[in-house]
Amino acid sequence: MSGNDGKIYDLLIVGAGASGMSAAISFQKERKALGLEKGQVLILEKNDRVGKKVLATGNGRCNLSNKEMSLAHFHSRRDDFPKTVFSHVPQQAVLSFLSDIGIVTTSEGNKIFPMSKTAASVVDAFRYALEDNSIEVISDAVVSSIAKDSVFHVSCEDGKTYSAGKLIVACGGACSPNLGTSGDGYKWLSSLGHKVYAPKPSIVQLETENAVAKALSGLRLDSDLTLVADGDVVAGHFGEVLFTDYGLSGPAVLQVSGEVARRIRKDRLTVPMKVCLRLFDEEMLSNIRVEFISRRDHFGSRSLDQILLSILPQKIGTMIVKTALDRPLSMPILSLSDQDIEKIISTLRSWEFRVLGTKSLEFAQTTIGGADCDEFDPETMQSLLVPGLYACGEVLDVDGDCGGYNLTWAFASGILAGSSCASEKAGETDGD
Ligand SMILES: Cc1cc2nc3c(=O)[nH]c(=O)nc-3n(C[C@H](O)[C@H](O)[C@H](O)COP(=O)(O)OP(=O)(O)OC[C@H]3O[C@@H](n4cnc5c(N)ncnc54)[C@H](O)[C@@H]3O)c2cc1C
Repeated sequence: MSGNDGKIYDLLIVGAGASGMSAAISFQKERKALGLEKGQVLILEKNDRVGKKVLATGNGRCNLSNKEMSLAHFHSRRDDFPKTVFSHVPQQAVLSFLSDIGIVTTSEGNKIFPMSKTAASVVDAFRYALEDNSIEVISDAVVSSIAKDSVFHVSCEDGKTYSAGKLIVACGGACSPNLGTSGDGYKWLSSLGHKVYAPKPSIVQLETENAVAKALSGLRLDSDLTLVADGDVVAGHFGEVLFTDYGLSGPAVLQVSGEVARRIRKDRLTVPMKVCLRLFDEEMLSNIRVEFISRRDHFGSRSLDQILLSILPQKIGTMIVKTALDRPLSMPILSLSDQDIEKIISTLRSWEFRVLGTKSLEFAQTTIGGADCDEFDPETMQSLLVPGLYACGEVLDVDGDCGGYNLTWAFASGILAGSSCASEKAGETDGD
């Protein structure tokens, strides 16, 4: 059953997320710049409305970019891929594009947000821009397969098929399937001959062995966190850490989680890993040491679990002493030797949690892995295997750090895919 009465669209995009909507608008803008009429563009979206994941970003505030925009925040098996894409669509071009569709930005620290600090306003701006640019959107359209002869034929679960001369796969990765993204694009890209790296979760909570985390579940603190793999520090971040039933969460943990996922093969860590929390700097630790000695002199009869009174929340202080010293906490502070004091200081310097793994893709904010970038042209986002096929956003093997980098990638790669589709250059490479 044809979903469009035999109509052949100029461009069909699968997925009305950050990258797909950017691609559609960019396509029309480029056509205008080339002096062409608006093209016939269709977006097929699985959800009942556009931009559902964007709505969930940044806790509903949409952290859409970051003032610190070095390439070190982007990861791919092919490092030069995001580099080339950003050389065509640098951050400033992304921000101008957003501004052109009515998104005014502001910053909080390095993080860039819409001035409204509401993700809904970003989605609204995109929705209006889709309308202004005569882009057709069909929601509740779950794409199930893609085939190509002289044009692309995109079939949906409801039995309808839509055809187009060019196709952009912008259906996101495999994380947070409740928001529409369950890795569907990998299947179609594989069926068209593309290699796909197995998806892994990133920006996700960590599971740790330590029962301490469970005992402290719900408590949070600021810490300098380092991630150690096989004895080497592989990542670090200062920020909030949240203790949970299964391990550790919070911004500092999410930020380093990708480095854990990259070391998991067949559900197992390939090297021993631990998270080390540094709760105080050296100057503060010296002051705390002096305070401990004073407490031993003045409050010697109090129980050991009171040694960190008012220095840390009580439950956390108790756990620190428990971790550092193997003895009943009911013993008096007077029983602390200088060596015991050093053991507590050293736990405050590096409180260790053995990492077991990450929570699953279901809980993650982005996907490591996806379509192999080697098979796409970073100058245009066009497939090197299937002329007229493009991909952008999270479906590709590019992931960004926490802090607005994933949306920046989605916007930039979408803008490039859309403008390339519209340009003569892409048209020329189109026909085979
Ligand atoms: C909770 C959460 C918070 C986040 N916060 C931030 C943040 O603050 N800053 C940041 O930079 N990044 C954040 N991210 C990551 C960011 O949202 C994504 O990396 C980005 O949206 C990816 O854009 P995309 O266009 O590739 O995919 P998406 O935005 O996921 O869009 C893909 C679209 O394709 C549709 N689709 C999928 N399969 C089909 C199908 N079979 N048929 C039709 N349509 C289909 C989906 O429904 C979806 O609408 C967050 C992610 C999550 C889950």
